[in-house]
Amino acid sequence: MDKIENFIDGEFLLSSSGQFIDNINPATGQLIGKITNSNSQDIQNAVNAANRALKSWSSLKIVERIAWLNKIADALESKKELIAQTESMDTGKPISLARRVDANRSITNFRFFAEFAAKQNDMQFDMDDAINYVHRKPIGVVGLITPWNLPLYLLTWKIAPALVMGNTIVAKPSELTPLTANLFASILQEIDFPKGVFNIVHGLGPSAGQPILEHPEIKAISFTGGTETGRIVAKTAAPLFKKLSLELGGKNATIILDDADLPTAAKGAAKAGFTNSGQVCLCGSRILVDQSIAAEFTDLLLKEVNSIKLGDPQNEETEMGSVISMQHLEKVESYVELAKQEGGSILTGGKRASLTSQQNADGAFLEPTVIGGLDINSRTATEEIFGPVITLHTFENQEQAIEMTNSTEYGLAGSVWTTDLERGRNFAEKIETGIMWVNTWLHRDLRTPFGGVKNSGVGREGGQWSLSFFSEMTNICVKQD
Ligand code: NAD
Repeated sequence: MDKIENFIDGEFLLSSSGQFIDNINPATGQLIGKITNSNSQDIQNAVNAANRALKSWSSLKIVERIAWLNKIADALESKKELIAQTESMDTGKPISLARRVDANRSITNFRFFAEFAAKQNDMQFDMDDAINYVHRKPIGVVGLITPWNLPLYLLTWKIAPALVMGNTIVAKPSELTPLTANLFASILQEIDFPKGVFNIVHGLGPSAGQPILEHPEIKAISFTGGTETGRIVAKTAAPLFKKLSLELGGKNATIILDDADLPTAAKGAAKAGFTNSGQVCLCGSRILVDQSIAAEFTDLLLKEVNSIKLGDPQNEETEMGSVISMQHLEKVESYVELAKQEGGSILTGGKRASLTSQQNADGAFLEPTVIGGLDINSRTATEEIFGPVITLHTFENQEQAIEMTNSTEYGLAGSVWTTDLERGRNFAEKIETGIMWVNTWLHRDLRTPFGGVKNSGVGREGGQWSLSFFSEMTNICVKQD
C-alpha cells in the first residue's frame, strides 16, 4: 500500500501527526493509498524550508528561473502517460480526458509561463525631471490550496507563475486527489530542483489547510475551491493582510438563442454539461433555450446526452467516468431527489449506472442526467451540484434570458449559442460572469484574465494577472539632474 508523504526541503516524510487518510479510486471503490494527514508542525517545517530557500531562489536571474520552468516542463513531458494514468486512477476520469486535458495542460502551464515571463518588460513612466521605474519583487513564501477536479492542472497553473516570479511555495492539494502532486514532487527530486523552493503538505482542510491560512510568514494565498471554503479562507487571511486570490464555485448557464445552429449548440451544451462528469467549475449546468426552438433543441440534446459513453475510465473509448467519491455521488443524487420534490421531471438519467465491468461494480457512477420543468429560482437550478446533472429551462425573449442567466449568486462562466456573432457578443456583455464564450466552450487562451464575479471569486489568474498576483510591484522614482 502506497503511503503518500509530505515533500519538505526536497525530502519525502510522514507527518508527525501519525494520522492517515484513505485514498480511494472512485471508479472501483478500491483503497489505493494512505495519505499522511499534516498538522501545524508540518506546515511550520514547510515554511521554514521555504524561507531558507527564498534568498537563493529569488536572487536567480529571471532567465534562470525560466530555464527551470522549461526543465520542469520537459521532465513532465517525459512522464506524460504516467501523469494521465495516475490522474485517471485518482479521480475516476476517463484516461483519454486525463491525457488530453490534465496531463497536457500541466505541461503547458510551465511552457506558457516560461515564454510569457520572458516577454515582459518593466514599466517606466517618465516625468520632466524624473523617471519612475516599476519593479516587480517576489512576495516571499506563498500558499497554494487546490481542489480535486483538475488536480495537477490547477496546481501547476499556480506553481509556474509563483516560481517564475521568485517566490517559494507551500502547497496543499486536495486530500481526495494527492497522487499527481506527489508524482510532481518526485519529478522535481529527479531533476535536482533546488530544495525547499517547492514544498507539499498533504491532509484535510481544517488540519493541513487552515494552518497555511493562519501562518504569518505565508504572505499570499492562492485558493481554488468551493465558495463556502473560500469564505473561511477570506475570513482567516484578510486580518493578516495577505494577498488573496479566490477562484470559487459556479452555476454557469448555456444559452441557446432562437437563431442558433441547433445540432452544434446541442453538442456544445452536452459537452459543457458533462465533461469530467460535470465536475469542471466552468461546466454549464443550466441550459436556457428560447421557447420557439425548445422542442427541437431538447430532442437533439437528449440524443447527444444519451450517446455519451459512460464506463470504465481505463477504457480508451470511455467519455465519462465516475464522480469523485461515493460521498459526492450521494450528494449529487440528493439533488436529483430534490429536483423531483421541486416539481422537476427527469428527461434522461437520474440513476446510478450499472457497469458491466466487474471492477467498477462499487464505483461512483451516475448516468448523465437532464432535468426539465424546474423554476429558474429553484434550489436545484441555483445551487452548485458539481456533478453530471443539468437543468433545462425556456425563455420568451432575450431580455428574460439575460435576467434568468444573471439570477444566481455565482458569476464564473457561461456560453451563448447564436449564428449572429455580433448579437452573441452583445448578449455576452450583459452577463455577470468572468468569462463568456460565443459558440464554443472551454476555449482557453492562457494570456486572458480568468476568474469569477459575485460569489465565484475575487481576483484574476492568467498571463499578466498571475504574474502580478505573485509579485509585489514597487516604484522607484529617480530624480534626473
Ligand atoms: P473545497 O473548497 O472543499 O476544497 C478545496 C481545497 O481547500 C482542498 O484542498 C481542501 O482540503 C481545502 N480546504 C478545505 N477547508 C479548508 C480550510 N479550512 N482551510 C484551508 N484549506 C481548506 O473544494 P473541492 O470540493 O475540493 O472542489 C470543488 C469546488 O471547487 C467547486 O465548488 C468548484 O466550482 C470549485 N472550483 C473552482 C474553480 C475556479 O477556477 N473557479 C476551479 C475548480 C474548482
